[in-house]
Amino acid sequence: MSTLILDQRMQEIADKVRNGERLTIEDGLYLYDTPDLLSVAQLANEVNQKKNGNKVYFIENMYINPTNVCEANCGFCGFKRKPGEEGAYTMDEEALLKYVGDRWNDNIREFHIVGGHNHEVPFDYYLDTIRTLKKHYPQATVKAYTGAEIEFFSRIAGISMKEVLEELIKAGLDTMPGGGAEILTERYRLKMSPDKASTDQWLEAHEIAHGLGLKTHATMLYGSIESYEERLIHMDRLRQLQDRTNGYMVFIPLAMQPRSVNAGLKRRTTAFDDMRTVAISRLMLDNFDHIKAYWINIGVQLTQMALTFGSDDIHGTLIEERISHAVGALTSSGITRDELIHIIKTAGKTPVERDTFYNIIKEY
Ligand code: SF4
Repeated sequence: MSTLILDQRMQEIADKVRNGERLTIEDGLYLYDTPDLLSVAQLANEVNQKKNGNKVYFIENMYINPTNVCEANCGFCGFKRKPGEEGAYTMDEEALLKYVGDRWNDNIREFHIVGGHNHEVPFDYYLDTIRTLKKHYPQATVKAYTGAEIEFFSRIAGISMKEVLEELIKAGLDTMPGGGAEILTERYRLKMSPDKASTDQWLEAHEIAHGLGLKTHATMLYGSIESYEERLIHMDRLRQLQDRTNGYMVFIPLAMQPRSVNAGLKRRTTAFDDMRTVAISRLMLDNFDHIKAYWINIGVQLTQMALTFGSDDIHGTLIEERISHAVGALTSSGITRDELIHIIKTAGKTPVERDTFYNIIKEY
């Protein structure tokens, strides 16, 4: 039996969680405010244990960023280039196949594809990227294009987001990554990413995808100008959509990286904030099965700690991550399966290799 003595407000929240009642934004604000981080962790850990037992998931996957040319100007982005700027690139089919061929191994189960909003190439370019990968690597799942990119495609192709998604699915799209969500409030988006999909459009892209049968991912890029309340509003909007569609597989909190210069950052997010955000995500998102700890942005050591703060997934091998590394991620750009297994085992958990849809490939 726990010997922790909780203050009255924390006890009320603990009772709600244990009775399966949904937490409010006010509850979330208290969880961000309390110095009693370990009680927050313990509650999140309880919820995770109930949902996922001792399992911690990982996947062998490959990141691909087919183009870094982008018409948008997000304040936190160090990845994008303007057309013609030094370092700008757009992979054609030959370059794409060479990139993948040079990095391929037969354990890879998923391509994770995101890129810039490049209007110098037509919508067909983005469809062809998927077709090419499906043709040459039919065994790998294609997880491609954020909700923000879906809205961008609908503008350059002059068709609806539903038509965009239908075309992408026909080309071989299996799921969408969770990026482009940043913080789902208009105040934030007008300051940080004014040129891309609004809160409603990002959510609509996912709602349409869910309606077409896709299971998708959701992220939150925290640690800059947003308030704690905005983070909680973000989570609340996601869980409202999840109530309607049950289309999200996982939530991924992403810590902002320190060289996001136009985001007004002076330093990295703190360990307390990273762990608290994982735990609060687990507690607020009561209708999500999985919470991922993103080792690229919080480091391998904190990722391991996150496994007792409510997280049950440490993502994948990635091979070569570029977007967070463009703004100061300190981690390596990829990691081996052995390292992932080591991190999980030494946290006292059971490593489970999964496919994109959380089907179990192997327990270690
Ligand atoms: S975050 Fe994406 S949309 Fe924004 S500037 Fe960078 S590449 Fe473009």
